[in-house]
Amino acid sequence: MDMDKLVSLCKRRGFIFPSSEIYGGINGFWDYGPLGVELKRNIKEAWWRDNVQMRDDMVGLDCSIIMHPKVWEASGHVGGFSDPMVDCRECKGRFRADQMTALVFTDRSGPQGATNPRPLVFSAIGEREDVERENTKAIEKFKKSNAAQAESSGPDVIRLDNLAITDELYALVPCPSCKARGTLTRPRSFNLMFETNIGALEDASSKAYLRPETAQGIFANFKNVVDTGRVKTPFGIGQIGKSFRNEINPRNFIFRSREFEQMEIEFFCHPEESAKWYQYWRDQRFQWYVRHGLRSDRLRLREHDANELAFYSTGTADIEYSFPFGVSELEGIANRGSYDLTQHQKFSGKDLSYFDEERWERDKAGLGLTSFKEYVKKREGEEKPGYPYQYIPHVIEPSAGADRATLAFLCEAYNEDEVGGEVRNVLKFHPRFAPIKAAVFPLVKKDGMPEKAEAIYRDLQRHFPVFFDEKGAIGRRYRRQDEAGTPFGITVDGQTLTDDTVTFRDRDSCRQWRVPLAGVVQAVRDLLEGGPVPSADRPAAAAAAEESDAT
Ligand code: ATP
Repeated sequence: MDMDKLVSLCKRRGFIFPSSEIYGGINGFWDYGPLGVELKRNIKEAWWRDNVQMRDDMVGLDCSIIMHPKVWEASGHVGGFSDPMVDCRECKGRFRADQMTALVFTDRSGPQGATNPRPLVFSAIGEREDVERENTKAIEKFKKSNAAQAESSGPDVIRLDNLAITDELYALVPCPSCKARGTLTRPRSFNLMFETNIGALEDASSKAYLRPETAQGIFANFKNVVDTGRVKTPFGIGQIGKSFRNEINPRNFIFRSREFEQMEIEFFCHPEESAKWYQYWRDQRFQWYVRHGLRSDRLRLREHDANELAFYSTGTADIEYSFPFGVSELEGIANRGSYDLTQHQKFSGKDLSYFDEERWERDKAGLGLTSFKEYVKKREGEEKPGYPYQYIPHVIEPSAGADRATLAFLCEAYNEDEVGGEVRNVLKFHPRFAPIKAAVFPLVKKDGMPEKAEAIYRDLQRHFPVFFDEKGAIGRRYRRQDEAGTPFGITVDGQTLTDDTVTFRDRDSCRQWRVPLAGVVQAVRDLLEGGPVPSADRPAAAAAAEESDAT
């Protein structure tokens, strides 16, 4: 699938626009148009419904974007939330060193080439294939001039964040943007948090940050929820909201932007159960994407190797999707142990432990004790005297991006096929995500058809987001709705006037069948809930002829 075609359809049909476009745009920011806002809301609402409202062990939260700056000291973001950056002194470009690849060839074509070979270096943002693609001509030229050399070994592949690269070699790496050599700085760390100031003074005491993730608001409210929510471990808190990261290379449309939305869960459990819940959430989250139409051969669950894990994590997995620009992370699921709550306990000085009253009540008689105080006293001096009744819960964090999910569902939905001899663009969204659920059309603008169609439209509008369109050839109207991803079309035609039935049309198969007027709302509801699309009761040739009048 061609990413440019999707980006252009998104713009043309009002899904996604570049932010501030009338001023030339602003890199890393995007706006959702009339169809896009519905699509993204449907994805967020489905996530909220399935992960919060439909579960007895989950509650929700909506925290402020700006929080006490100490939150970000405790979380490690002030000290460690940085990427290694490389600057070009020539073009002033700034790049993430861990995303820059260089290929080092050995050039033996010069006058003393055999005895004095020289390294020849090419670079690009991305992987080896990206370097090869962006430097195809120069690499071919190199290969031709070196063809006579008997000794040929493949290029060395290096990442620019590799500190072992010598200064001599580093000076030969071209800037991936302006191609100048010897102009790149060594990687330096760059904090990704956006800073702001609170109040009138702009000094160190007023400094605050736009949150780079929603998760920390959940940890900061853990005690509030436990004290007020009648929750018992294992339980989770979910939150959807904006996050901000001053990404150096925002790219790939809405995949990596500077302002985006996250859908995060922190699931708190007993330390002995965290491995079990980690497995559970990995599988649960993977299946959620499959259930909503992402083909599982384009999805993969990649378990991190031990050397990729953060020091506090005992397990992390990425759900990755095969986007047109490569396989990339859609969501991360991590077993974070007790790291976050322990940090916040340390920095805030507040007790964030959890007391499992039920377990204590069940066990105390068997232990021959009447009060928990006695239990703790008996174990005085031990590292965790209240354990296993009082403990800092371990946490499993499934952390998803609403924009990345929107992009994955758009990529998956995008199809080009042929209908009535014409190529059509169609977005085959899962009905739950489709911005408009059904469109209503009068076949022609006369004989009372517009009035009948409008009555159906008003009736449906009370139940679902629907659309009414009476302008232009019917085939063209169907096609516009195919591009918007509307699953069903409902047409009032000549036969409606005689037998009070309407034509239903299915977006994906273009099948057409008739439904009595009185049953339209129920028929749409059944179809949206996954009911079968009836077999066509209209000759395929007649339907195709109607569709071809789109031209
Ligand atoms: P990446 O390695 O791609 O930068 P990450 O591992 O830093 O991502 P997390 O901090 O785990 O990402 O954030 C959780 C989720 O938030 C990601 O899986 C992704 O869906 C989303 N996300 C993170 N950064 C961005 C961004 N710049 N733009 C859009 N979504 C993002």
